[in-house]
Amino acid sequence: MAIVALVDEAEALLRRLVGVSDAAFREGQWEAVRDLVERRGRVLVVQRTGWGKSAVYFVATGLLRARGRGPTVIVSPLLALMRDQIAAGERAGLRAVTMNSANPDDWVDVATALADDAVDVLLVSPERLNNPRFREEQLPGLSERAGLLVVDEAHCISDWGHDFRPDYRRIHDLLTRLPEGTPVLATTATANARVVADVAEQLGAGGADVSTVRGSLARRSLRLGVLTLPRAADRLGWLAAHLGDLPGSGIVYTLTVAAAEDLAAVLRDAGHDVRAYTGSTDPADRIDAEQALRDNSVKALVATSALGMGFDKPDLGFVVHLGAPASPVAYYQQVGRAGRATERADVLLLPGVEDADIWHYFATVSMPRQEQARDVIAVLETRGRPTSTAALEAEVDVRRARLELLLKVLDVDGAVRRVRGGWEATGEPWNYDAERYSRVASARAAEADSMRAYLRGERCRMAFLQEALDDPSAVDCGICDVCSGPWYPLDVPASARAEAAGRLRRAGVPIEPRVQWPSGMARRGVQVSGRIPPDERTEAGRVVARLTDLGWGQRLRWTLDASAPDAAADGALLAACVDVLRGWGWDRRPEVIVSVPSRSRSALVGSLAAHLARVGKLPDLGPLGLRNGGPAGEPGGNSAFRLADVWDAWTVPPEMTAALRASPVVLLVDDLVDSRRTLTVAGRTLRRAGAAAVLPFALARVG
Ligand code: ADP
Ligand code: ZN
Repeated sequence: MAIVALVDEAEALLRRLVGVSDAAFREGQWEAVRDLVERRGRVLVVQRTGWGKSAVYFVATGLLRARGRGPTVIVSPLLALMRDQIAAGERAGLRAVTMNSANPDDWVDVATALADDAVDVLLVSPERLNNPRFREEQLPGLSERAGLLVVDEAHCISDWGHDFRPDYRRIHDLLTRLPEGTPVLATTATANARVVADVAEQLGAGGADVSTVRGSLARRSLRLGVLTLPRAADRLGWLAAHLGDLPGSGIVYTLTVAAAEDLAAVLRDAGHDVRAYTGSTDPADRIDAEQALRDNSVKALVATSALGMGFDKPDLGFVVHLGAPASPVAYYQQVGRAGRATERADVLLLPGVEDADIWHYFATVSMPRQEQARDVIAVLETRGRPTSTAALEAEVDVRRARLELLLKVLDVDGAVRRVRGGWEATGEPWNYDAERYSRVASARAAEADSMRAYLRGERCRMAFLQEALDDPSAVDCGICDVCSGPWYPLDVPASARAEAAGRLRRAGVPIEPRVQWPSGMARRGVQVSGRIPPDERTEAGRVVARLTDLGWGQRLRWTLDASAPDAAADGALLAACVDVLRGWGWDRRPEVIVSVPSRSRSALVGSLAAHLARVGKLPDLGPLGLRNGGPAGEPGGNSAFRLADVWDAWTVPPEMTAALRASPVVLLVDDLVDSRRTLTVAGRTLRRAGAAAVLPFALARVG
């Protein structure tokens, strides 16, 4: 009797939630709900997007709350997703709230509501679990009282997963702290057998039984295909010519920010209504762009993976990739956003030769380096008080983005701790887990091989992706380009290719001048701080391209690679440099050329300075002089270190000083710009020697 009543009650909740009066549970949904509510069990649900995973936890929450249990805590990775979740919960009559970095002012109200038991669902990001205030004030009470813990996108727990996030390792602590009999639900749409086993093991912490509900991951609405075109101009030309043929509105993914911006410009020039969406887009513009796509008021967003898990548009008509993601699992997750509520959605991949380089780059930046980790711990131990990330940056030679990642990893490993005012060492010994990192590195290599196999197309594309996720139900889809031949146009109209090629050849990216010295320079023995005085700054500069650009980026990556021989620049590159100078639009035309002395590429930089001098009819004053042998360290490193390295590295030879007096506007030529410290300090040296303006020019910039 009791069972029947529970089913009926659950079904009524489901119908309210989905807004369909005769809705019935889908296969597996009821089993999961029952396991959570009756057995108070731990359940792992691996089901495709759109199957109804959130329905499971909202229905379970309704039932548990009706039985007097505490609120459900949902750990979910993205704010955008949270907005949708709160709205969905409210449809089911559940009061849902969130505590995240965007609403600290509401925390007190939320905490009061929690204490009054007036909240049914609390959504938090994994980062929140490690916020000192949240950890101290909320977490202990919450884990004590939670009626249900939900871990969304649970593959992020596993370092076998394609999207492992250090913050998710906190969930393990939370699991061990839950009182016995607190049900736990973990959900994911993208986990292969190894990730499932790993997540199940972590869910079972403390000896709990874990039941797994796993369904077919096949997405029948998706028509998959791969179109290999030899050159970037062909791929861009294809998109410019055929984007309009794709159904509805959709997403064009690129691997880098530069590629997204370039491609958006090409598509706009071709008359398409598209917007770029990347990690460098302002948050407000991002929300606006998401809304425009939801409303079908743009044809496409040209996006990096920053348009991520949280984005939900059931009628998304297509997903195209310009450049392949690093693993079939990551690819499945991105294309899974299309066609959730449509009969058919088109999914096309246009791979590029440079994709593997980009995978390699992202794989290496995310791994902690042993010496750097030891330095960070040593500095925190010596200082013995909370230290901010900016202050740490002045003491250890690790760049900001990598430093932040490293601190997270060390935190999760227990060696450092985030406290108010920064970070401190815990005194716990830290061991470099070489075995784990090499394991992760070989998993990445295997994923890359698998992605290459996907591109070759020896098997039905959908079945291939399902098998990559160890889904045993894989059968041929019948509609992909392997099953039934190309469904997309194969031609690239000559005019579209020519347009794209012209755009790719177009050169020139600005570099903003530095206006601020990094903090903590005094600790590095350099007595500067605060703003750089206006009469010591450079003007805005130019480079031909970013190393990640679709056009010149590829060429310049080869030219500037550490293993490339030093040689004079070729005619095409020199012509591109002249184009950039022509299009500059400077306030004051340069009167002389000075170069930054280069150890490894003096022929390249020398040829550049000489050519620009000839074309612009400007005297080439040659390179700056070196003091004490020039810069000490290698390029790279973080800003405080790099600045200390180059501080006082250059001198202005007497004959150059004399020439500057007569012609004080300088074009300062270098090969590669990274932190901009070289240009900042060399520019300052010239300004102090009498230059009225310094215009930096280089071949490329990193990122
Ligand atoms: P997931 O979290 O697995 O991606 P959702 O829970 O967001 O999927 O559900 C996708 C859509 O299906 C939602 O619109 C939801 O209301 C609907 N839905 C879920 N379960 C059912 C069901 N049993 N019957 C009908 N519609 C359902
Ligand atoms: Zn197929």
